[in-house]
Amino acid sequence: MTTDLAIVGAAYLVAAILFILSLAGLSRHESSKRGNTYGIIGMVIALVATLWIAGKSAGLPQWVAIIVAMAIGAAIGVRLAVRVGMTEMPELIAMLHSFVGLAAVLVGYNTYLVSTETHPVAELAVGATPGGTDAVHLVEIFLGVFIGAVTFTGSIVAFLKLSAKISSRPLMLPARHWLNLAAVVVSLALMVWFVVSPAILPLGIMTVIALAFGWHLVASIGGGDMPVVISMLNSYSGWAAAAAGFMLDNDLLIVTGALVGSSGAYLSYIMCKAMNRSFVSVIAGGFGSDGTVTGEEVDYGDHRDTTVAEVAELLKSAHSVVITPGYGMAVAQAQYPVADLTAKLRERGIDVRFGIHPVAGRLPGHMNVLLAEAKVPYDIVLEMDEVNDDFPDTDVVLVIGANDTVNPAAAEDPSSPIAGMPVLEVWKARDVIVFKRSMAAGYAGVQNPLFFRDNTAMLFGDAKDRVEDIIKAL
Ligand code: NDP
Repeated sequence: MTTDLAIVGAAYLVAAILFILSLAGLSRHESSKRGNTYGIIGMVIALVATLWIAGKSAGLPQWVAIIVAMAIGAAIGVRLAVRVGMTEMPELIAMLHSFVGLAAVLVGYNTYLVSTETHPVAELAVGATPGGTDAVHLVEIFLGVFIGAVTFTGSIVAFLKLSAKISSRPLMLPARHWLNLAAVVVSLALMVWFVVSPAILPLGIMTVIALAFGWHLVASIGGGDMPVVISMLNSYSGWAAAAAGFMLDNDLLIVTGALVGSSGAYLSYIMCKAMNRSFVSVIAGGFGSDGTVTGEEVDYGDHRDTTVAEVAELLKSAHSVVITPGYGMAVAQAQYPVADLTAKLRERGIDVRFGIHPVAGRLPGHMNVLLAEAKVPYDIVLEMDEVNDDFPDTDVVLVIGANDTVNPAAAEDPSSPIAGMPVLEVWKARDVIVFKRSMAAGYAGVQNPLFFRDNTAMLFGDAKDRVEDIIKAL
């Protein structure tokens, strides 16, 4: 058995290294496919090693039960992954985070029940055994269930908001910060009770509080801040997995959970910086926002319509063009004609570049993935900070299905719900063409004064159809 454990330990080490290489690979476009492959190999090694040792230590019936459960889970997972559209990926990810949270809760209760089976509750209490190891074990169970429950309901609210099943507006309960604080303080008191007297009652009460806390944390965050919430839940799901690893005494789960937890936390920090939001404010469920933002309808005057022929003429005479894609490009699957249009314009000697907002679309890196899929060269795809100073010298900006990420109200109207969020300053270009189907607002539900500016013209219709029409007209 010692040799078997050494073999599994070595396999886990190799898998952990592959996961680290995978993260490193995924941080750059050029190496992302390799990163993905490392991750897949690492996961296969981890699964085979875990199944092998489970087969040796558990009886045949248990082993068969694990294989059957995995086969059912894999069948559901493959079916979902094949059917899901690119625009539904964020919802799917939120749902998967909720599963990790639920798993941590179940592992926590299972570990508790197994412990009470082998030791009477009185023996589990702190000080009942020398060395206090049981106290650590109890804290592990308590924290694992707490983080798991917060992740579970938080991710379900994120799923409902992203799939527009509930409004993306922030829930502004009176005294909401005090409610959050009370939830944390009462949970801490329950942890002390649980460690001193490990009955199921404090664990159960805390679970109910943590479920409500997770729900409230995400419900009180507005639409524009959802990207940070998603990466934050990603981080929570990692910590929930690490907590499960401690309870199950599984080193690889601890390492993998910590990798996901810390990289998710770092991504949340980067996104907060990019959106000019306070990290603490967002993780504390909108703490700091006083809820006085109005976002009311304002009369900005009339907008100007344009036609495919006019846009084609404008492009023919342009020297520099910047394309700023958004969620609508993903909905329309317009990335392929957009790549063709880019190639056509570049053949004519026109300087074409892309300006990517960090939260464009519904996933971190959403636009980069779509453009890479359509084989747009990486070197003309620029981040917001790299392109923002160039708009005053740009002839034409094509805003393809973007809205919140090009909204001047973020920079100019302090009462706007998205005030302070840096945006692509497209209105500074000579001409701006907006591709969308109607005058509807974007994800944050805020009107966009860009559409009413003198240098902006609206080209209505599905982005894919309109871009294809322009290619024909060129
Ligand atoms: P928005 O969601 O602000 O706007 C997208 C626009 O695309 C809509 O106004 C819509 O207008 C238009 N559109 C939809 N379908 C089509 C179509 N078929 N053809 C043409 N246009 C279409 O997009 P942005 O990318 O600018 O901003 C992203 C928003 O999502 C931000 O508020 C961000 O905070 C939020 N978010 C981002 C996440 C991330 O990680 N990136 C995660 C969660 C939220 P119309 O209906 O009139 O066509």
